[in-house]
Amino acid sequence: MNAAERQQERAEIMKRIETAKDALGKSLIILAHFYQEDDIVRYADVVGDSLQLAHAASVQKDARYIVFCAVSFMAEMARIICSPEQEVLHPEPDARCPLADMAAIEKVEAAFEGLKATGKKRIIPVVYVNSNADLKAFCGRNGGLVCTSSNAEKVFRYVFSQGESLFFFPDENLGRNTARRLGIGDDEIVIKDPSSMSDETGKGYIEKAKIFLWKGHCYVHTEFLPSDIARVKDRYDGIKIVVHPECTPEVVSLSDYAGSTAFIKDIVERSGPGTKWAIGTELNFVKRIKDGNPDKLVVPLRESGCSDMSKVTPQKLLTVLEGLLDNRYPGRVAVEDGVSKDAKKALERMLEVS
Ligand code: SF4
Repeated sequence: MNAAERQQERAEIMKRIETAKDALGKSLIILAHFYQEDDIVRYADVVGDSLQLAHAASVQKDARYIVFCAVSFMAEMARIICSPEQEVLHPEPDARCPLADMAAIEKVEAAFEGLKATGKKRIIPVVYVNSNADLKAFCGRNGGLVCTSSNAEKVFRYVFSQGESLFFFPDENLGRNTARRLGIGDDEIVIKDPSSMSDETGKGYIEKAKIFLWKGHCYVHTEFLPSDIARVKDRYDGIKIVVHPECTPEVVSLSDYAGSTAFIKDIVERSGPGTKWAIGTELNFVKRIKDGNPDKLVVPLRESGCSDMSKVTPQKLLTVLEGLLDNRYPGRVAVEDGVSKDAKKALERMLEVS
């Protein structure tokens, strides 16, 4: 297919999406994560980060169909939050988050039992929203809760006010960066390495540990390096660096700001004309911020994209929408009842704390 044919095919798909959206009217709501491509975002009723989308899913009481354009754990989260009468659909079930898949429920359960056996009085499990439903359910069953990069600090504070220590999974970097913001030192953190199930810092530290951190990471955000910061600072006089807290603590500590995608969007939008920004997060999102702020200089700290988020395409969105018109449900999301009930407890605790 040549470029002109591709362009024509794209235009045809776009037109059919519009037609299907019009036909479905108010029964349909499309939610899209900030990391989705522009050709998806243009059709979304709500675009946001995980916390904003969790909230949006929880208040869409009138929509019969919720189409979630993101990776699978987010669509699962909507399924857990929404009422059973609502259908949640995910255009590409194979769009999974590799970070979420770094913590398997059996290993997390075994690690938790091991931690309890150390004699710690109370350990509260906290799971990053980038996780599969069974881990959220584990937290719900064990008095724990979910957090996002927007509210991690609040959730950690809440946990410390309730218990003795915290078991956080699956993102080590968000856990350590949040700990640092709360003044918790590396000597109060123990790493749980799922490949060996050993405690990286040794048994001697367990007694004084405040946080047990799962050794998982996001491949998109760990691409950013201290040398990227040095390079852009050298090239652009007065540039500010803002990164996502899934970046390594070394990168976060060299940056001017760190925060969720909603935080990053907000800080750039509220800055004055002529300001310069280098952003360390997913590339589709950085490009959109750049386009939305033509009076500022916005550059990616490095070009690092999430190929999993990009698996949701306009063609796949169209398949879902036209399927709904035919009373079929392609990409219907299902979460087993018991898992859903427990996971919902962990999500509701988060929404209460946030
Ligand atoms: S950017 Fe990272 S954390 Fe987000 S979906 Fe992609 S792999 Fe997962």
